[in-house]
Amino acid sequence: MEERLQKILAQAGFGSRRTCEELIAAGRVTVDGRVVTEQGTKVDPQAAEVRVDGRPAASQRFRYVMLHKPVGYLSHLDERAGYPSWQELVKTPERLFAVGRLDADSEGLLLLTNDGELANLLIHPRYEHPKTYLVQVEGYPNPRKIRRWQHGVMLDDGPTAPAEVEMFRESPLGERESGSGSGRGRGQGRRGVTRWLKITIHEGRKRQLRRMVGLLGHPALRVIRIALGPLTLGDLRPGKWRDLTPGEVKALQALVQADKTPRQVEDSGKKKAEPLMPSTIAIDGPAASGKSTVGGRLAAELGYLYFDTGVMYRAITAVALARGVPIKDEDAVTVLAEQVVLEVKSPTVADGRDVTVLADGADITCDLRKPEVERAVSPVSAYAGVRYAMVAQQRRIGQGGKVVMVGRDIGTVVMPGADLKVYLDASLAERAQRRTLERTARGEPADPDKVLAEMKRRDQIDSDREHSPLSAAPDAIMVDSTHLTIDDVLQQVQGLIRRWGEQRRR
Ligand code: C5P
Repeated sequence: MEERLQKILAQAGFGSRRTCEELIAAGRVTVDGRVVTEQGTKVDPQAAEVRVDGRPAASQRFRYVMLHKPVGYLSHLDERAGYPSWQELVKTPERLFAVGRLDADSEGLLLLTNDGELANLLIHPRYEHPKTYLVQVEGYPNPRKIRRWQHGVMLDDGPTAPAEVEMFRESPLGERESGSGSGRGRGQGRRGVTRWLKITIHEGRKRQLRRMVGLLGHPALRVIRIALGPLTLGDLRPGKWRDLTPGEVKALQALVQADKTPRQVEDSGKKKAEPLMPSTIAIDGPAASGKSTVGGRLAAELGYLYFDTGVMYRAITAVALARGVPIKDEDAVTVLAEQVVLEVKSPTVADGRDVTVLADGADITCDLRKPEVERAVSPVSAYAGVRYAMVAQQRRIGQGGKVVMVGRDIGTVVMPGADLKVYLDASLAERAQRRTLERTARGEPADPDKVLAEMKRRDQIDSDREHSPLSAAPDAIMVDSTHLTIDDVLQQVQGLIRRWGEQRRR
C-alpha cells in the first residue's frame, strides 16, 4: 500500500513528520536511487527502496495489541510495588508500552503498542477520546445522582466534563462475571444492594471514575473498561490478549488523523513568522469592569471563540422566572439548570446583541438584561448545583482552545490551567456609572443611585458565596480600568499577550 514519504520516514524513526519533510526538502532522501524533494510523494514501502543520506530506511512494523487486564496487574511498571505488570501476560518480540493507565484494581481493555505517535495522540487530553466503563457501585443511585454524573460533579481538581451514564437492572456481564472476578465486590449481596453503571467519559483524570461515584456516596466495587475510542473489549477473557484487526488499526488511525489535521494545517507554512499565542484566555472581574467588551473585541481580533459565561447564569435565571420556579427554591432551580438545554450561538438577529441564547430551543436573548433577571442572577449563581451544571459545560468549551472566556471564576475554577489570566477591576462608582449609561443608551430607566446599590449587592453576593466566589486567581494579572478607556484596556491586554509569547520563546 502506498503511503506518503514523510509518513514512512516518521514511522521508521527519523523524527516528526515535520523533521522528515525537512529531510525531503533538503534532498537527503532517495527512492529507488532517485532524489525526491517533492513533499507528499507516495511510495509503497514494501516495494520501493527508501534511503536517507544513502542509508536504507528500513521501515519498522508497528504492533497493536488489546489485553483484557485482570485486577491486580499494573498498566505501568513503577506504579505500586508488589504487583505484577501486564508484561507477565503479553510476550512479544516488540517492546510494547501501555497507552494510558488502568489502575491495578481496575480491569478491562488495555491497548499496547510500539507506535509512540499514535499513543500520544490517543491519550492527549485535548482530544477527549471516549472511554467506556462498566462500574459496579454500592447502593442504588437515584435518577438525580445519575443526572449529576451526566452533567459533571465537582472533584478536588475541578468539575468533571459531561458524561454518558446508564444504569442497568441486572449485571451486564452475564455469565462472564464469575470468570473475571475482582475478589472485592464479587458476589452481589455480600455488601447489600449494588448496581451496575455504564459510564462513558471524555477525559482521564487519576482514578476519576472511582472519585466520581464515591463522591455521591456510591463507592465502586468494580471498574471494567470495555471501550476505548473505536475499540471494544468484546468477549476477550481476563488475562487474554489479541492483535488488533487491520480494521481496528485503521479506525484508530482515522481517529487520530482527524485530531491532527487542523494542527498540521496550522503548523505548515510560515510558522516562524507567527507569534506564539496563548490559546486559552480567562478574563474575570466584577460587573461592568469591561470584561465583555474587551473579551469580545480581543476574541474577534485573534479569531478566537468569545464565550461570556454570565449569559448562562442569566439564561437559567430568566427561564426560572418565566416558568414560575421560585428563585429561593434551590432544589427546583438546580433541577432546572440540570435539565434546560442552553445554546449560546453567534447573533441570529441584527439587533445589536453579542450572542443569541436559546433555552430548550426558544430564543430568550431579549430577557437576559431585564431588571428582574439582574436582581435574581447572583442568588441563582450561588447555588452549588447550578454551578456544577454550568461549569461542566464551560470547561468543555474551554478544552477546545482558542477561546477568550469571561466571567467570575474562569481563572480559578473553569480553566485553572488557562494560558493567560486577566482580572479586570474598576471602582464601584465608575462601574455603576458605566452601567447607568449603558441602560440609558438602551432607552431603559436608570437611576444612578439604584444602579450603584444594586451593583454593590451583586458584587457582595458574588464575592461572599461559598462556591467559586469572585476572586482573582493567584496567577492572574490585574488591570484596573477605572481611569482607562476600552481601547487602553485592550492595548494593555494585547501587551500581556505579546509578553506571554516572548517569555515562551526564550
Ligand atoms: O457577567 P454578568 O454580569 O453578565 O454575570 C451575571 C451574573 O452571573 C454575575 O453577577 C454572577 O452572579 C454570575 N456569574 C457567575 N460566574 C460566572 C459568570 C457570571 O457566577 N463565571
